[in-house]
Amino acid sequence: MSANLSPGPSSKEKGDINVFLFSIDLEDVRDFIPDGHQYRAAVPANTLKYLDWLDRVNSKATFFIVGKTARDYPDLIKEIIKRGHETACHTDTHLHLTKQTELQFRKDCESFLNTMHALGATDIKGFRAPTFSMVESSKWAYSVLRDFGFKYSSSVLPSTNPIFGWPEFKGEGYYDGIYELPMNIGSWPFKVPFGGGVYFRFFPNFVVNSLASSTFKRDKAVLSYFHPYDVDVDQERFMHPHLNDSKLLNWLMYVNRDKVFSKAESLMKNQNAKVMRYDEYLASKINTK
Ligand SMILES: [Zn+2]
Repeated sequence: MSANLSPGPSSKEKGDINVFLFSIDLEDVRDFIPDGHQYRAAVPANTLKYLDWLDRVNSKATFFIVGKTARDYPDLIKEIIKRGHETACHTDTHLHLTKQTELQFRKDCESFLNTMHALGATDIKGFRAPTFSMVESSKWAYSVLRDFGFKYSSSVLPSTNPIFGWPEFKGEGYYDGIYELPMNIGSWPFKVPFGGGVYFRFFPNFVVNSLASSTFKRDKAVLSYFHPYDVDVDQERFMHPHLNDSKLLNWLMYVNRDKVFSKAESLMKNQNAKVMRYDEYLASKINTK
């Protein structure tokens, strides 16, 4: 790296905080598997675990919400708003962008926003595609998001991945008027989205801390994607969706669910990281009004 005598705006100042963008993709996994509703309803109890933990660590987070889940649990959405967290969009029915036409996606956004406005969410800025399905072939979705007044998206996995991924993605910035904050990918040999879900639970603490530390050194926030089931220690055993029936991947779906909060606290403590809402973090970078 060449010497740079005048630090640019991206240089970290002494005393700057490291940002851990804590987010929950609020969806009901039972909706995505055959006969899923034979299993117990777990979304409210598990979401309350996140809400109570966030209160305990005095932090606000972002909830990317599926419209159907909001209609199923309206009081839960009101509680999320009441406790001061950001509510954002995770589509209306969790249909991957690659499976929607532009017209379908417009109707999807409309239905989601109608649901959320009726529940008192007035200022929705953020979007996350189901299963990070924003890829080269679905990038038309950015202009639809812009038309509906969204400001940012966190929908891209900038790597190859068994499910979705956009390895040629150019990096954080504007795409058709929407600011894309792609998921962090760890460095070799951990080239996976380590900040949430399975990987965050599975990797030992020192690995998560090391990957987070190198992310912070690059002056980036650590992003995340947790789900209600990530903290559900009592969930029945069933094959989770989008895993191609892999028994190994499904085993991973159940690993260390009791450790999400202690590991998040370890990251906060060891990396001097603050949990923030996505919109508040982005307010210093882009015009989110
Ligand atoms: Zn999802």
